Amino acid sequence: MQILRVPQGEFELGRYPKRKKELLRAWDAADEYLLNYLNESGLVKKDLNVLLINDGFGALTVTLSEDNKITTWSDSWLSQQGVRQNLVENNLDSKAVTFKNSIDEPQGAYDLVLIKIPKSHALLEDQLARIKPFLPETTTVIAAAMARSIHTSTLKLFEKYLGPTKTSLAKKKARLIFCEVDKSLAEIKSPYPKSYVLEGTDYTIINHANVFSRESLDIGTRFFIQHIPQSEKYKRIIDLGCGNGIVGLMAANKNPQADIIFSDESYMAMQSAKENYENAFNGQRKAEFFLNDCLTGINKDSVDLVLNNPPFHQNNAVGDAVAWQMFKQSKDVLKQEGELWVIGNRHLNYHVKLKKLFGNCKTIASNKKFVVLKSVKI
Ligand code: SAM
Repeated sequence: MQILRVPQGEFELGRYPKRKKELLRAWDAADEYLLNYLNESGLVKKDLNVLLINDGFGALTVTLSEDNKITTWSDSWLSQQGVRQNLVENNLDSKAVTFKNSIDEPQGAYDLVLIKIPKSHALLEDQLARIKPFLPETTTVIAAAMARSIHTSTLKLFEKYLGPTKTSLAKKKARLIFCEVDKSLAEIKSPYPKSYVLEGTDYTIINHANVFSRESLDIGTRFFIQHIPQSEKYKRIIDLGCGNGIVGLMAANKNPQADIIFSDESYMAMQSAKENYENAFNGQRKAEFFLNDCLTGINKDSVDLVLNNPPFHQNNAVGDAVAWQMFKQSKDVLKQEGELWVIGNRHLNYHVKLKKLFGNCKTIASNKKFVVLKSVKI
């Protein structure tokens, strides 16, 4: 836990999930800039109806929730768990905060909308398009991000969907964006979800805005699905970090006897995976869908096959902690002789980790960019 010191007070904030040797803070200089600005400008008095969008781990919710009515809207299940955890750690009432996930519409008459700019331009576009219809002209909209994440195209999105937009000077490499809601601007619908037909099949793949490779099939995923194994012995298969669920869908297709479990921490990924699976099998084939931190809570020794295309960044934090957690938890949930199949960029050297963990790692296929690896629990 680290202490966030801002004009609103001092707050203990931690990331979620808690990791033993956490080097990263649960907030950034953009949160601090925004909170300082809200205090100096006198914008936040009391009892405002505030919509917080993409609040990482609660830096904004925790600091503003005592005096205001907060709705927090996010695509990240992990972030939302972090916000809840930090409210509790600071003796604040998490029930007083309304949690909306990215599939919900956060409809309401908000006085203030604060946006942390997400990594994905598509998610921002979707969010701006979806809030515009219910924001009155009197709403104050302020966005914040590290300056490197604010591009001309970011400002253009605000101007296209909401209205006139300007930026602040940079402070500690962070910037604020001020935007007026112009009701005379024609409302534009979000271009998401988008869909494409999965090559070699007649499956239409629906992708909500924040889904990995939302416009077309990822080249790594394409290579992976070419090598998905087929065997009567696979009774329970997990698509770990499922995104739009293509991997699990193709595993289901090749293994008609198997039950499929989809796991992801993004609400939009989970929704896309559900829709894609239901459409592919006309709602006739059951599957389980877990919004989850990797495989937390899934029974040990219960699974025959885990298929995994790991992420290599989480909430802007680059690193392989999540991949490592995915591999370790896969080993836990696999039965004896169960298999973990992983696709990764060659340079990520996943085989070193897998060999260390499982004592074995076989290369199933490789091309210039990717390797498909298999480890067996022995
Ligand atoms: N399986 C899909 C594919 O191959 O196209 C998506 C793979 S994408 C590289 C990695 C996925 O892992 C993303 O959908 C991301 O949301 C998910 N993810 C990231 N961190 C996670 C976590 N802690 N628990 C579960 N899923 C996570």
